[in-house]
Amino acid sequence: MSAAASPARVLDGAAVAAEIRDALRPRIEAVRRAAGRPPTLGLLLAGSDPGSEVYVRNKMRQGEGLGIGTALERLPASAAFEEALRVVEAFNADPDIDGILVQSPLPAGMGDDAERRIFEAIEPSKDVDGFHPENVGRLVQQTSTLAPCTPSGVMELLDRSGVALNGRQAVVIGRSDIVGKPMAMLLLHRHATVTICHSRTVDLPRVASQADVLVAAVGRPAFVTVEFVKPGATVVDVGTNTLTDRDQVASIFGVGSKKLAAFDRRGRVLSGDVHPGVAGVAGAITPVPGGVGPLTIAMLLSNTVQAAEQRLRWRA
Ligand code: NAP
Repeated sequence: MSAAASPARVLDGAAVAAEIRDALRPRIEAVRRAAGRPPTLGLLLAGSDPGSEVYVRNKMRQGEGLGIGTALERLPASAAFEEALRVVEAFNADPDIDGILVQSPLPAGMGDDAERRIFEAIEPSKDVDGFHPENVGRLVQQTSTLAPCTPSGVMELLDRSGVALNGRQAVVIGRSDIVGKPMAMLLLHRHATVTICHSRTVDLPRVASQADVLVAAVGRPAFVTVEFVKPGATVVDVGTNTLTDRDQVASIFGVGSKKLAAFDRRGRVLSGDVHPGVAGVAGAITPVPGGVGPLTIAMLLSNTVQAAEQRLRWRA
């Protein structure tokens, strides 16, 4: 397999996310005028997971920056599942809340199936994460209005970057409910021929290397190496892995790399699921950070506005 002549085009997720946010501004203003209040997102943060704190803060800050209202309910890590359920039920009943987001993970003490139960308790029309079974069914049947944010962000990025899907081979590595499965469904709806791979897939590099569009949602740093990639393919890296081991950073990114210098300053760096060497083979690639991550939040805000518009239409 020969490498592509020039390095891959970088698909700038941050720029596309900014375009999506800008396009929301007039819609937010229209909801505010019609409803007498802005589109509003209710958030539940249970426990004090540092990653969750950052995610929730970013979601609120970006929402508020656009004029979206936010209502945050916090619960301690020791809270019972029923307390989380009461918060969701209050959001469901509140006519001034359009979207509901329950930040995962929920505290371990709430039980193994707490997330599934809480997602099922969210009123489907307010389910801006798109995880409720009704919305999953609608996604499959292509009648969905609230699709999961990360895969719909990937679709926006592919579309706005002019990546063709119709009739192309797409391979998704990962079959989670929040990324892999909905990603595959969205690509299928756009007439790609889709293969879903996972930990039991035999000869994964061979399967992946058939792809014109390869999506990696594995959660393993630099897992997708050059052998996985057809020259010229578009590679979407969903993975966000925090590296805290200097040797691992040096072995993935190289001695003298910018990432290693960043590691030496901060003691941690982010790595995607795609090895940096892939940039020499792919036709286009998403960076980490600055690729899929910013789009996920932009689509959450987009879903919140959409949910608010839908409620206004029902009221009319
Ligand atoms: P997940 O629920 O852990 O799923 C990982 C998937 O990868 C599973 O389907 C698993 O297969 C598969 N997998 C694991 N090891 C594999 C291997 N050796 N070979 C082939 N497949 C393998 O993770 P997720 O929630 O989908 O997230 C995936 C990554 O995306 C994570 O790094 C996460 O942090 C990141 N993420 C980023 C964003 C964003 O906004 N950028 C949003 C969500 C997630 P099995 O099903 O067989 O176990």
